[in-house]
Amino acid sequence: MGSTRPANTRIPVAAIDVERHLEAGLHRLGYTAFRPGQREAVETLLRVGQLLLVAPTGGGKSLIYQLPASLLPGTSLVVSPLISLMQDQVAAMESRGIAATFLAATLDPATLRHRMAALAQGRYKLVYVSPERLTFPGFRSVLRDIDCPLVAVDEAHCISEWGHDFRPEYRQIGEVLAQLPTALVLACTATATPIVRDEILEHLGLSPDTPQLVRGFARPNLALRAREVSGKQERMERVDAVMAEALGHPGSGRGTAIIYAPTRKATEEEAARLAHQGWRVAAYHAGLTGATRDQVQRAFSGETLEVIVATNAFGMGIDRPDVRIVVHLAPTGSIEAYYQEVGRAGRDGKDAIGLLLISPGDMPRRRHLIERDVDAQTRDADIIHHKWNLFLELMRWAEGGSCRHDAILRYFGDEEETLQGCGRCDVCTQLAARGEQDPEHVTLIVRKALSAVARVHGRFGLQVVAKLLQGQDDPRLTRSGLHRIKTFGTLSDCSELWLTRVLRRCVTAGWIDFDGRDRPVVILTEEGRDVMVGTRPARLLLPPTRLQSATPQSVRPTRRRPSPPTPETLDAAGSALFDALRRHRLELARAERVPPYIIASDRTLRDLALLQPSTLDELKLAHGIGPAKAARYGASLLAVIAANRY
Ligand code: ADP
Ligand code: ZN
Repeated sequence: MGSTRPANTRIPVAAIDVERHLEAGLHRLGYTAFRPGQREAVETLLRVGQLLLVAPTGGGKSLIYQLPASLLPGTSLVVSPLISLMQDQVAAMESRGIAATFLAATLDPATLRHRMAALAQGRYKLVYVSPERLTFPGFRSVLRDIDCPLVAVDEAHCISEWGHDFRPEYRQIGEVLAQLPTALVLACTATATPIVRDEILEHLGLSPDTPQLVRGFARPNLALRAREVSGKQERMERVDAVMAEALGHPGSGRGTAIIYAPTRKATEEEAARLAHQGWRVAAYHAGLTGATRDQVQRAFSGETLEVIVATNAFGMGIDRPDVRIVVHLAPTGSIEAYYQEVGRAGRDGKDAIGLLLISPGDMPRRRHLIERDVDAQTRDADIIHHKWNLFLELMRWAEGGSCRHDAILRYFGDEEETLQGCGRCDVCTQLAARGEQDPEHVTLIVRKALSAVARVHGRFGLQVVAKLLQGQDDPRLTRSGLHRIKTFGTLSDCSELWLTRVLRRCVTAGWIDFDGRDRPVVILTEEGRDVMVGTRPARLLLPPTRLQSATPQSVRPTRRRPSPPTPETLDAAGSALFDALRRHRLELARAERVPPYIIASDRTLRDLALLQPSTLDELKLAHGIGPAKAARYGASLLAVIAANRY
């Protein structure tokens, strides 16, 4: 890994001069004005010498290197993994009279030699290179001889093992930069996760105080919605309703829809279903032949299709501006992936809808996918855990409670563009119409919750805060004297589960944050303090059921389960079984090196203690036990239950 450089070594004298010509340079590239944040990014790069730019795909990051490259003397380099994108950008630059080319393994040897010679002669302003090119000694030696004022690293998250797109060749870039100590360095990515950003800086050999600009994530014309559905029937009804809302009826010409499905088979089933309703629709996935995929893409771009039902293989380079809805039949693996896909709606700036549907089986399915993918590569428990957390972030966001638009921007760290409520997402609309939720009541609950956080601040996690509010007998509360404060039991009529959901919603709203390495502890943010003392409104949608006894069974008509037992419904013998199950869970968790809740939640164990199942089928009646869990842990759970039956 390259050494850390002080920030001020990377400013060529010419960079200062260049700032005066930015407008002229922009026009030469064919643009009339900067988009918000673009000028600031170029200026920061020129003044500080290095910049980590975080913006979504399509956010206009290329300009941040193309503009300085066109103005600075010498040949700038862009490292990019996407050859098709290189070709387009080179063509665009050439059409503006800026000498540019690309070097990649797809070229024939003669062309490659010719371009390398021209590079050595300094004939290009901008050269795109694929990451593996950096490892070629011939390329390295040419690099030593040319004047290179700027290196841009596109898709910089590919350097990180934690990201979704690790490319080992990216690890070479640090060495190349060390070879060019006076070049400006721009790293671009659409990935938000802090761990990935840190790794980008570390592996590029850039100092930790390198400026990070986060821009352009706001998409205020998108009405974001997330919805839990009980199963297939309800999912289809939701799809039909949103199609009717946004597109009217087949043939209405009101734009198009993209429906993302989790499997190839699901794309075909859903496409067939919609075709039956009269929509001009096609399925798209990686299992189709190249020719079929091209044909579907062309039909979609050429406006002969109204709907495309696709796996996530679809989307690269989709530029149709009039996509009016993006529906996800199942959640993606992270907020980043979701936002990238839903961002394909409403590119024309007009109203569009993004609908995310979540079914009970999605969590275990995702867990399975993560384990399968990671197992195949490294079997690294930390990476499984990290990916699982990325997914849980999306689940928390879907849980909602505060404006979905603002919650996403906060997740990306793009605070500047938050709107204090977008007014069009499902949460904002429910807040506006909240008949049943009395604002004073909400404020009271939220302020109580936040004052409990203030008391626990920096010491324990969310669960302890919920226990404090509920007034539970817990050693962590007693040991720290928290059982004697006024807040203890101040919301004792609410279930722990419900309180945890309220607290999670406060996290999404930006009022509670986490700190700590091994064990995340809650902290009250500055905004949270304002809400607690009443100088900022508590704009939050409370979770639907406040009391556990009020959990409506009717919302889940397809699958009847016993109503969730509370600890109080377990008598002493039941509690002994519950404890035995918890001990067993801990052993499993240690053996598999995963957190205990991954194996089973407390709620699951309580269900088991109450139901005392003796067969695998009975076991599956417990909350959170699907076929995968039953297969994996069923036998040993049944053994523990048999040994402690009461
Ligand atoms: P990214 O690299 O962030 O994915 P691009 O740089 O490819 O995004 O930009 C996306 C689109 O926006 C391109 O078509 C580009 O021409 C356009 N664009 C970028 N900056 C501007 C601008 N200032 N004015 C108009 N269009 C712009
Ligand atoms: Zn909103």
